[in-house]
Amino acid sequence: MTVTLPSTHASTTRSMQKLYRHLHAHPELSMQESETCKFLTRRLDELGLETFTCGGTGVVGILRNGEGPTVAYRADTDGLPIEEETGLDYASVARGTLADGTDVPTMHGCGHDTHMTVALTVAEYLVTNRSAWAGTVVFIFQPGEETGAGALAMLADGLWDRAPRPEIVYGQHVWPGLAGTIDISSGVAMAMADSWRVTVHGRQAHGSQPDQSIDPIVLGAHIVVRLQTVVSREVHPMKAAVVTVGTFHGGLKENIIPATAEFTVNVRTFDLEVRTRVLDSVRRMITAEAQASGAPEPVIEVLSTFPRCYNDPAATRQLITELGGTLGADAVIEVPPVMGSEDFGLLAEAIGVPSVYWMFGGYSQQTIDASETVAGNHSPHFAPDSEPALAAGLTAALTAILSQVGTLAGTSGSPLGGTK
Ligand code: ZN
Ligand code: ZN
Repeated sequence: MTVTLPSTHASTTRSMQKLYRHLHAHPELSMQESETCKFLTRRLDELGLETFTCGGTGVVGILRNGEGPTVAYRADTDGLPIEEETGLDYASVARGTLADGTDVPTMHGCGHDTHMTVALTVAEYLVTNRSAWAGTVVFIFQPGEETGAGALAMLADGLWDRAPRPEIVYGQHVWPGLAGTIDISSGVAMAMADSWRVTVHGRQAHGSQPDQSIDPIVLGAHIVVRLQTVVSREVHPMKAAVVTVGTFHGGLKENIIPATAEFTVNVRTFDLEVRTRVLDSVRRMITAEAQASGAPEPVIEVLSTFPRCYNDPAATRQLITELGGTLGADAVIEVPPVMGSEDFGLLAEAIGVPSVYWMFGGYSQQTIDASETVAGNHSPHFAPDSEPALAAGLTAALTAILSQVGTLAGTSGSPLGGTK
């Protein structure tokens, strides 16, 4: 089906910027997005969508427009515990409270504010251009992407019992590429990620009496070094995997051998078999090293599990063609999968329908030219050039959705009258 995106007015740009600045200035931490949830619900209600809260702080908006296919579009809503250093006049000064009670500065450091802005603008466009499409669009505003909790929470709260089941689910993420370009992978797009907290138990003693102790720091250190051999010695050379120990804490004073040490492991894989192999090996090494030290079995807690993000090859092929029509063929770049992770894939996987997820560029050519390296996601300096980035994000989202439910044929173009 040919996608038609009538050009719209400067007013769209203005209202998107207004939305964006508001959302940017009011980030909330994962699974605590209650004000964001209210804001989104209010806006969707104003537009006349059916709405319901789902998964705690998630919001679903349903837009029906007669007979036709059903398509779902997902935007994530959470901010991060980062102190914003962008210097923008609408920079966040918000604060939040982590699960352990720590008060932290909060920032939309991953650009989820752009995702929400685009999704709300898509909804507005579809409401005001009902003749351009037919069917049902389900907007999923998902909380807790950063912790991997949000998609699960929405599914557990009956997302697909309460919303019409789509034939396909789309989603996109801003990243530090050139605004107007799309990076997309066919098949596996993003890695699975598993995070564990490991508590190693030893026996506390005076630092001068190591013979009285079971030293959990020495034991933990052995485990960390041993884990470096999982990928290098146990994973097929043509397969990819990452094992990272991101934190290690133990002890309070140089002359006390502590009772415990604690570290966290993050495992990334693309392939289910490799994932099983790596996780089994990590567990085996942790257990065996403890045995070697004469220590009790360490305690392993699962912190998060991100599923694979898999782009249906046929749907991806179709979307690449459609995006080529609206953004320009050169603007759509097919890329290999990345080791980053997303819980987006769960939403479609839960009902066995295809999904496609892609990256849209956040920076203007001018910004890229002016700096040696532009700030990426999760940086305190991450500040996409919101006008071109949002315009292209909107075009991409509308292209995807209208490729399923669009009814008109004719000239293609950006809803903002050109984004390149
Ligand atoms: Zn992120
Ligand atoms: Zn993100």
